[in-house]
Amino acid sequence: MTETFDELEVLPWSEISELHEDLFQKQLDYVLSQSDFYQQKYSGISRTSITSLKELPNLPLTTKDELRESLLARPPLGLHAAASLADIVQIQSSSGTTGMPTFVAATGQDIETWNSMGARVFYANGFRPRDWVMHAYAMGRGFVGGLVNIEHLQHLGCCVIPLGAESGTERLLQAIDHLKPVAMCATPSMVNHLGSVAQEVLGKSASDLSIRKISVGGEPGGGVPAIRQKMEELWSADVRDMMGGADFGSTYWAECDVKDGMHLCSQAALHVELIDPDTLESVPIEEGATGELVYTTLRRQATPLIRYRMGDIVTVSDMSCSCGRTGYRIKAHGRADDMLIVRGVNVFPAAVKDVVTQLAPDTTGYLKIDLDFEGHSTYEPLKIRVEQSERSTLNPSELTRMVEDEVRTRLTVRVVVSIVPEGAIERPGAQKEKLLERIKVS
Ligand SMILES: [Zn+2]
Repeated sequence: MTETFDELEVLPWSEISELHEDLFQKQLDYVLSQSDFYQQKYSGISRTSITSLKELPNLPLTTKDELRESLLARPPLGLHAAASLADIVQIQSSSGTTGMPTFVAATGQDIETWNSMGARVFYANGFRPRDWVMHAYAMGRGFVGGLVNIEHLQHLGCCVIPLGAESGTERLLQAIDHLKPVAMCATPSMVNHLGSVAQEVLGKSASDLSIRKISVGGEPGGGVPAIRQKMEELWSADVRDMMGGADFGSTYWAECDVKDGMHLCSQAALHVELIDPDTLESVPIEEGATGELVYTTLRRQATPLIRYRMGDIVTVSDMSCSCGRTGYRIKAHGRADDMLIVRGVNVFPAAVKDVVTQLAPDTTGYLKIDLDFEGHSTYEPLKIRVEQSERSTLNPSELTRMVEDEVRTRLTVRVVVSIVPEGAIERPGAQKEKLLERIKVS
């Protein structure tokens, strides 16, 4: 028998499609009457030309840059905010390319919608009501893996232990040893880190602790067989992947016990499309299809978005599953852009450049981020080479500290800076500046 958090997860897909058609029409009416952003954006488009989701690809895409401009054009929540400020009960922030976050608002009903998706995700990942769950995602900095995941777990009926990544390795491991939770949620790098130091900290291996179910997300890797296997062996636990993004709550894709691709878990909340990220053409959703995820909210009150580009590149791995869930499955490949994920915090190279450039005249603004890890995410501080200007009177160690402090304050990530003399970093010339440099992984 199929076990799911709610019945929408096993409804025939044709019924989900009908439900989405109905919700989409209502959402579009709401958006066009309440959102100044979309009234302007769709001013040349006839409402009557959009009679079904089939016509959705005729509408232009929405980008994060547009939301940032919208926020600046009408603070606090932007031209795209559609609900009364009095109805907003929570505001989350989502990372931005210039270091400025975009703010994501929610009404009480929006939170309920987010919780429905999140509870489906954690249930698919194997969590059950009354499970004790160690929460080891970052709690601060507005990261949605923090508070929002806690709300999802409580909605599912779990007992959450929200120590968070900031508690540090020792406290987390000691709490696990003392409270004996059966489950844990964290980034794959955190799961690996805790697992590999358990013996040193507690005098016993992670596999001797109580954790038997681990949900990982916030960065890619959980679905990669070799990475999963390492975590499962370390902890003697079942490890499953999940994915989402701050613009629509926290998480809405999840692996079931088959552990081969993440199910869509956003029924009645988000309509999902795929596009070719270069041509922006629609890519039909079928087994083997690859493209960038594009989301349309179906019942969002605070900040509804139509055809929003999230930037994740995925492949549809299967349209059905032996677990009985009717939501298709995807495998994620990473971000469409150069975004890095440092301890679960999104960092855009351009944002680092922005910070370094603002330290002129001591810096020239030229830098390289040396990637000594595979993929885009790491648990270690980022390594940056920064050029010191010939005009600077600081000694290199002073400048090192200045850059490290400034990046940490502005972007909430740790970096290790090496100062190099002016001219040491090649100039981009007519090329697009390459801020990232892959260096050999030792
Ligand atoms: Zn399944």
